[in-house]
Amino acid sequence: KGLKKHFPITGGILGKKTGDVKAVDGVSFEVKKGETLGIVGESGCGKSTTGKLLLRLLDPTEGQVIFENQELTTLKNSDVRKVRKEMQMIFQDPFASLNPRHNVEKILEEPLLVHGIGSKAERRKMVHEMLEVVGLSAYHAKRYPHQFSGGQRQRIGIARALMTRPKLIIADEPVSALDVSIQSQVLNLLEDLQNEFQLTYVFISHDLGVVRHISDRVGVMYLGNMVELANSEDIYSRPLHPYTEALLSAVPVPDPEFQREQIVLQGDIPSPSNPPTGCAFHTRCGKCMDVCRTTRPEFKEIESGHFVACHLYE
Ligand code: SF4
Ligand code: MG
Repeated sequence: KGLKKHFPITGGILGKKTGDVKAVDGVSFEVKKGETLGIVGESGCGKSTTGKLLLRLLDPTEGQVIFENQELTTLKNSDVRKVRKEMQMIFQDPFASLNPRHNVEKILEEPLLVHGIGSKAERRKMVHEMLEVVGLSAYHAKRYPHQFSGGQRQRIGIARALMTRPKLIIADEPVSALDVSIQSQVLNLLEDLQNEFQLTYVFISHDLGVVRHISDRVGVMYLGNMVELANSEDIYSRPLHPYTEALLSAVPVPDPEFQREQIVLQGDIPSPSNPPTGCAFHTRCGKCMDVCRTTRPEFKEIESGHFVACHLYE
């Protein structure tokens, strides 16, 4: 609700604050139990920061995160730890997120130790079972991260996230570092696990094709704002926001007859330390009107379940 994350910019030898990077600048949305909510946007749009705010890996500058009726932003750190058992993150680069000096058994045991789960023997059994669940085996337990392929490492990253039996998984570009042939295997695994463990996913990606494959609903972010949110089908078949339209027009479709005419965006993404006034997209929007330059459009539900922030729909 109203989430903001502004990072101070400091400069000069005195390190005085010279401004703010408005990484997330007032975002509100809901994640429904059991769904996959995709969040898409170009790099720097604030989608990863939003993911970290949801898990309170970052504290928001403003706004609230409410998880199962519990307000996380005001929780004490000790209580955050308890909640964190229920919510885990899967990262883009499994190699960077796995300790190279620990074998797989130790990597997967760690979240159990942190949360005081099980005896040594029980933890070992849980680790071996989880390896099977993600398509590896107990045989891999004594190996080290560098002995695995990229796809296998992501399976280990997924296993680690699942060790505490969380309810919510934030997956930040989980397949972006993988070969295309491996991507669909990992996506299928994530879908199987969602059914098996009744997981709720927030799936963050710059790749609309990947998000479409896996999401029930999709939110589109631009420069720290969410500009559109709807069922996947609606987003892909009738996007309302000019930015969503432009993003989609660049995605190749299998049948050229259905290829949208490509909308080429003018200019670069403005800096999040100095975002445009009014609608943050107005400097690149082909449908920009006078009001867009001065007034920020509200993020509103204009059809059932279809939210958009754009003056065209007011
Ligand atoms: Fe374009 Fe105006 Fe809509 Fe922004 S509010 S997307 S500038 S039409
Ligand atoms: Mg990112």
